[in-house]
Amino acid sequence: TIAARAEGLTKIYGSGSAVVTALDDVDFEVHEGEFTAIMGPSGSGKSTLMHLLAALDTPTAGEVWIGDTAVGTLADTPLTEMRRDRIGFIFQAFNLVPTLTARENITLPLSIAGRRVDREWFSRIVDVLGLADRLSHKPSQLSGGQQQRVACARALMNRPHIVFGDEPTGNLDSTSAAEVLTFLRRSVDEFGQTVVMVTHDAHAASYADRTVFLSDGRIVHEMRGATQDQLL
Ligand code: ADP
Ligand code: ADP
Repeated sequence: TIAARAEGLTKIYGSGSAVVTALDDVDFEVHEGEFTAIMGPSGSGKSTLMHLLAALDTPTAGEVWIGDTAVGTLADTPLTEMRRDRIGFIFQAFNLVPTLTARENITLPLSIAGRRVDREWFSRIVDVLGLADRLSHKPSQLSGGQQQRVACARALMNRPHIVFGDEPTGNLDSTSAAEVLTFLRRSVDEFGQTVVMVTHDAHAASYADRTVFLSDGRIVHEMRGATQDQLL
């Protein structure tokens, strides 16, 4: 089953003589329960592709489907609900609320949406992430790796259709990065999670099932399965 799909995706920034074609007629699909890495040089369109797939931005041309839903056909309210209910996001800079505890940060999206926390799911995720004894801590009392694991838990709390990671290990030492990547891998293997991650790091990409390479706004190469070892 297709978790997300893009067809003829084009994004042009700016106007007049200052236009930049960030994405140029890209076709792309992600299968459910698959872990996809997106690599490519700086400026190749990785962030743009991910923001479009995550329905955070609108394309100049082309269409994105999340599940069966064509994102471009959604009005503001269903679009907001789609982002809130079906998408998880993990950022390079963690983006935790400094005044809230780890527990409050993890459940914040549910609180905002007025949803109940599924205690069993919460405990399971927190256990897998090794955060059980850190739940009362504020972000400033946590290491970078712990903060990013809190962000991982937050991203999965609503059982999203897809989790997007924007350089999720970019600010982490290699041990903490491995913890986050192992968690993303386990979420795919054990929960059937679909994950799409932008990374500069070939080692990070080696945790994925496939790696798509962007250059100048186009997909120029794709690796899958055992050939991913060539990344290392
Ligand atoms: P990457 O994530 O691979 O570094 P981006 O998707 O951020 O690439 O950027 C692709 C191209 O689009 C780059 O040339 C970048 O400068 C340009 N770009 C990205 N965002 C904007 C924006 N908001 N306004 C103008 N140009 C942008
Ligand atoms: P990057 O630094 O990865 O290139 P930016 O932070 O510049 O990306 O964001 C690119 C676009 O995505 C901006 O138009 C921004 O408003 C939008 N965006 C980023 N994060 C979010 C978010 N959490 N919710 C809504 N829009 C977002």
